[in-house]
Amino acid sequence: MPKGVYIKTEEHKKHLGEALRGRIFSEEWRNHLSESHKGKGEAQRGEKNPNWKGGTKEWLKRGKYKRRQLGFIPLNEFFEGSEFHHIDRERGLFIPIELHKSISHCVETGKNMKEINLVAFDYWSTMSFKHLKERIDERRAFN
Ligand SMILES: [Zn+2]
Repeated sequence: MPKGVYIKTEEHKKHLGEALRGRIFSEEWRNHLSESHKGKGEAQRGEKNPNWKGGTKEWLKRGKYKRRQLGFIPLNEFFEGSEFHHIDRERGLFIPIELHKSISHCVETGKNMKEINLVAFDYWSTMSFKHLKERIDERRAFN
């Protein structure tokens, strides 16, 4: 991603800083998750859930093959040409493949994680900001 194309506001920097310290999502994100699961009721529970993978037994079985399983909590939506990057063992961001490959890193060993996370968050916050701005511009167009 080209550097310095987008102007960062102080607010923007603050949010980025918070995200990097890993605090921004802990509560906000959990609330978001529980919100999105509300109202689905019994139909989505347990084995009726489309994501059901056979229950605890099956999960343990799979754990033997892949002992150190990483979680999969995406903080943004998948998009064409993106790859899931783990910012930690549980959560991650979809970022463009080229960006993801630009810094070799490993979430298991922590190798270059600081560096790649900075890049990932920078991309993510820039995109969020752009998206927000587009929404505002859209709304202006109708007024
Ligand atoms: Zn990654």
